Amino acid sequence: MQHHTSYVILKKERFDDFISSLSRMQKLVAPVAKGFNNYSFEEVHSAKNIALKYIPTILPAKKFFMPQRETLLEYRVSKHVKAEAVVEYEKMTIFGLHTCDLAGIQCLNMVFSERPKDYNYLTRKNKITLIGLECNEYCDEYASCHLVNASFPSGGYDLFFTDLGDYFIVHVNTLTGERILDITNCFEKSSEANLNELYRMREKKRKIFSNEIPIKSRHIPELFDRSFRSLVWKELDERCLACGNCTNVCPTCYCFDIKEEVDLSLMHGIRYRVWDSCQLEPFAKISGGINFRKERSARQRHRYYRKFRYPIDKFSRFFCTGCGRCTRTCMAGISLKETLNELLKESEDRLWRRWL
Ligand code: SF4
Ligand code: SF4
Repeated sequence: MQHHTSYVILKKERFDDFISSLSRMQKLVAPVAKGFNNYSFEEVHSAKNIALKYIPTILPAKKFFMPQRETLLEYRVSKHVKAEAVVEYEKMTIFGLHTCDLAGIQCLNMVFSERPKDYNYLTRKNKITLIGLECNEYCDEYASCHLVNASFPSGGYDLFFTDLGDYFIVHVNTLTGERILDITNCFEKSSEANLNELYRMREKKRKIFSNEIPIKSRHIPELFDRSFRSLVWKELDERCLACGNCTNVCPTCYCFDIKEEVDLSLMHGIRYRVWDSCQLEPFAKISGGINFRKERSARQRHRYYRKFRYPIDKFSRFFCTGCGRCTRTCMAGISLKETLNELLKESEDRLWRRWL
């Protein structure tokens, strides 16, 4: 197929052919059901292993872009010290990313493209092909993707699939996407009727997806400007267990620690990085034992400000994608939507009281 229009269709009966042929091109990763309503991005070879209807996976696709543990440098000591930079990467395609997860990857791209550029991340990113899959309805009650403008597709993918019953309509966004169409050879031209069906589905979706807490997105930064001394943070102080789960599962959290490991001969060693979390006590510790955020209230507050306030100034976007993972995973039952609601209630109460 040549000269692609930007939309094509894939009939459901060809879906398995498409997936098998895609998995022959290079490693293919997709959401797989793990039982108890849990899902994970894992390697697949056939469509039957893919969960097309799934709630966000426990760990986001961040695990492929920014592995939990990653070697950065290897060194050897002989007559001279020889150090070599290491970039670990693997070519792969990720199929089935929801719009919230695509937004998460866009956030990481922005962070790691800042100077000094993170070549490890950027090299890996360039080897990964992304295929999105639209949510026609909410995954569950924890999602708040509409609030943060992540419920509809807005780029960041090579191909984007929308399920329209008997077939998928597919948006072709990049040359890599076009190449996939050519190689897999399972797609057909789209007609005006197909596009109309897509618009009808999106209309329906617009009625289902509405702000998950009663505030307009553009007022969220103001809400945070008013909430630094809120009592809500105090309440989280008493509940949070400081386990760091909420940050590990967040698609936009990217903090890491750098460690050295020297073998027993002391002649050879590696420098590697591992995920770290602002929710863990040692994270903000500096020499002299001083800690900028000793209390859990300060650490929780920091997490929320890193999602809803600080990135607005720096990147003009929220660093929360509304995926709901932090709420789903929190052992203390701390809910992102509930926290935002409480901040809003408290802030409105205060404003209201001023008029009395
Ligand atoms: S997952 Fe919950 S308990 Fe653990 S650090 Fe995050 S908010 Fe605290
Ligand atoms: S803060 Fe929570 S809801 Fe927002 S992107 Fe991170 S894990 Fe998802």
